[in-house]
Amino acid sequence: MKKDLRLHPEYGVNPTIPVCYICGQNKNEVVLLGAAYKEKAPMHMHLDKIPCDKCNELLKSDVLLIEVRDGESGENPYRTGYITAIRLEVAKRVFEKMDLDKNRIFFIEQSVLKNILGDLYGKETKRKLPDN
Ligand SMILES: [Zn+2]
Repeated sequence: MKKDLRLHPEYGVNPTIPVCYICGQNKNEVVLLGAAYKEKAPMHMHLDKIPCDKCNELLKSDVLLIEVRDGESGENPYRTGYITAIRLEVAKRVFEKMDLDKNRIFFIEQSVLKNILGDLYGKETKRKLPDN
């Protein structure tokens, strides 16, 4: 990101709160877009593909499956809002042919995810995140 901030003629520093592209939660940061953003910056915005701290922590031990509507594909498929984490050891058995050391974030169609999870679908299992 550029160091110099050119003020937007109408919206000044033009701030926004970046959100995580995986979970959609706020990243607890404020980014000043200034004139780099042509309109008034929305309060929340996806700015990059860098996961938030919580997702980053999960990605050390888990694979994240972002549920999308059946039939959706491409760069930005329609998400249902359901995201689940599967332990890496388990995911390696389920997704044998995928290189999970390279990529641990996947879009998955709702019907496929329901098939994989069975009775566990929609049930939250609480797991404590490792301490920093
Ligand atoms: Zn996140």
